[in-house]
Amino acid sequence: MTMDILARQEVRPAAFDVEAIRADFPILSQQVNGRRLAFLDTAASAQKPVQVMEAERRLYETYYANVHRGVYALSQRSTDAFEAARRTVQTFLNARSEREIVFVRGATEAINLVAQSWGRTNLTPGDEVLISEMEHHANIVPWQILRDQLGFTLKVAKVTDAGELDMASFDALLTEKTKLVAITHVSNALGTINPVKTLVAKAHAAGARVLLDGCQAVPHLPVDVQALGADFYVFSGHKLYGPTGIGVLYAREEILTDMPPYQGGGEMIRSVTFEKTTFADIPLRFEAGTPHIAGAIGLAAAIDYVNGVGREAMRDHDQDLLAYAHQRLEEIPGLTIHGTAPEKVGVVAFVMEGTHPHDIGTILDEQGVAVRAGHHCAQPLMDRFGYAATARASFGLYTVKEDIDQLAEALMEVRRIFG
Ligand code: PMP
Repeated sequence: MTMDILARQEVRPAAFDVEAIRADFPILSQQVNGRRLAFLDTAASAQKPVQVMEAERRLYETYYANVHRGVYALSQRSTDAFEAARRTVQTFLNARSEREIVFVRGATEAINLVAQSWGRTNLTPGDEVLISEMEHHANIVPWQILRDQLGFTLKVAKVTDAGELDMASFDALLTEKTKLVAITHVSNALGTINPVKTLVAKAHAAGARVLLDGCQAVPHLPVDVQALGADFYVFSGHKLYGPTGIGVLYAREEILTDMPPYQGGGEMIRSVTFEKTTFADIPLRFEAGTPHIAGAIGLAAAIDYVNGVGREAMRDHDQDLLAYAHQRLEEIPGLTIHGTAPEKVGVVAFVMEGTHPHDIGTILDEQGVAVRAGHHCAQPLMDRFGYAATARASFGLYTVKEDIDQLAEALMEVRRIFG
């Protein structure tokens, strides 16, 4: 681990009180298989604080009604809360306008929306879309489907042995044919933070649009879409301590304004006759049907929670844990960490000699330690490194060094069993 990460331990404000944070997550204070629960799978989905549950409960107990429709008081209140949630997301990402924030089911739906709406109208045979070897399937498959529909070419930038984007490969593949660069801000399988500001500048200089997959970035780093210059930025609420079934597509207003609808139905129209339908303005044009009202309100509560902790403090806590985890795991004989980029978030993937990751996961579970074992929805990345799977520990606001100690001790148990 780099000195840079270790040095940051000192930066954490004294106000960051992890025990107070843990008290907000009741699920953590339980035993699993007779052991203290060490929940280390936050990259798959984060646990929820009581503040998020309370926000949804308050909605359902006091002012729930469908949004954008009723003239009565409850509907007005729930519409106000839903639209306030949109402004909370806008501020969180530092988008210029709330019109640039589309509520979707999650990052997967956001990327499919961009592919089928922007992609369908802007890509033709001869064009290229540039992704990378470290993409989640959600940022591969929608482009393959569209490629097979439209006949453009999908190019893939390489990843280095340390798990960083290979800039020489990226530069070589970025040409005047590239119409879109779709790349992850942070890798879910490696933890690598990509130099996205540089990538956006290079892509724009080549005349391409840029979509950033922010799923694993927003739970760890402050994100400013204007500073990054991204054209599209997507994330899922459930990885940010919010509910499942809600996510965000940010798109620059001038781009979104020109995009055709992705799905048709109620909410997204201005007027309908059997001859012709005219569509609503952005962002409602992209929100066909009754939205996930409680999801949006729960997500806003999650963002308020993260803002309350402080996003810089959140990052410093994460870096502190990451340095500690690398140190502890490197002590374990036969263990290799997969992803050693100097710029990483709190995600540590690893393999152990002579042990299948699924067996690691099962033995850890017996010790109360919850980690992910598998291909992490990044099969091409696993192929690139010649692994069928890895085990992955990932951290959140509520993670403590005790969780990492419990992981390290349980991994020694794996070592004892498999020799
Ligand atoms: N991209 C990345 C980097 C992810 O980690 C994930 C979730 N594992 C996704 C996209 C897809 O998110 P969702 O399943 O919430 O749509």
